[in-house]
Amino acid sequence: CLEVLLNTESTNSYLLEKSSDHMGKRYAVLAEKQESGRGRRGRTWVSPFGKNIYLSMLWSFSGGIGSLEGLSLVIAIAVERALAELGVNDAKLKWPNDVYLDHKKLAGILLEVSGEYSGHCQVVIGIGLNIKLSAHDAESIDQPWAQLSEYLGGVDRNTIAATMINHLIKAIEQFDKQGFESFKGYWTERDAFFNKEVDLILPHLTRSGIAKGVNGKGELLLQTEKGLESINAGELSLRLK
Ligand code: ATP
Repeated sequence: CLEVLLNTESTNSYLLEKSSDHMGKRYAVLAEKQESGRGRRGRTWVSPFGKNIYLSMLWSFSGGIGSLEGLSLVIAIAVERALAELGVNDAKLKWPNDVYLDHKKLAGILLEVSGEYSGHCQVVIGIGLNIKLSAHDAESIDQPWAQLSEYLGGVDRNTIAATMINHLIKAIEQFDKQGFESFKGYWTERDAFFNKEVDLILPHLTRSGIAKGVNGKGELLLQTEKGLESINAGELSLRLK
C-alpha cells in the first residue's frame, strides 16, 4: 500500500502511529512537505513543500532487533542504486547512512523500530532526498548539502520516487535473506571515506583514525593507535579531518 500526503509532521512519525494497525504488512508513505522532518538524535531534516522526496516505509523483518545490523547502510545503497539507474553514477556512501554527491549530503536516512512480535521486528525506514531547495529553505542546514536538480534534468519526481521504492524493496529483501555481508563489497567501492583520516564524533568525545571500510556486520573499521577497531553505528557521526 502506498499513501501520498500533502502535509504531515514527519512521514516516520505518521507510520510509527499507524504501525500497530499494520503488523507484518508493508506500507509506504510519501509527503509533499514535513512540518518537523527528523534526523537522528533529535536533529532536523529540512523539508519544504513541493519538490523533494520524503518517504517512509514500514517493514517487518524476520529476525529480532539484532538482525537489523547493517540495515541503514543497505538503505543508503538502495538510494545510490536508484540514482545510478536514473543516470547519476557518482554518488558516494557515508557511514552509517548518508548519500553524498560531490562531498555534499543529498539524502538522509532515519530508521526507527516500531515493535517486535513473535520473533519479528517492525521497522520504519525514513528517507529524505533533496531534489530542489531554495536558498531560503537551506539557510538552516549546517553542513554542505546537494540537490538532485543540479545533476538530473527532466526526470519527474514520481519516476524518482518509484525507482527508489523498487530498489528499496529489492535491497531490503536481499538483506532480510542474506544480511549485510552480501552488500559489503558494494559499499566498499562507494565508501566516501575509505582510507581517509576521520573524526568520529561521540556524544562526549571525538575519536580519530583512518577509515578502513566496514565489516560484514556493517560496523565501521577504524585504524587507531590501538589497532583496527570495529565501531557500531549507534548514534555516531563521522567527519573528514
Ligand atoms: P551527520 O550528517 O552529521 O552524519 P546524521 O546522519 O545523524 O548526522 P541525519 O539524521 O541524517 O544526520 O540528518 C540530520 C542532519 O542533516 C542535520 O543536522 C543537518 O546537518 C543535515 N540536514 C538537514 N536537512 C537537510 C537537507 N534537507 N539536506 C541535506 N542535509 C540536511
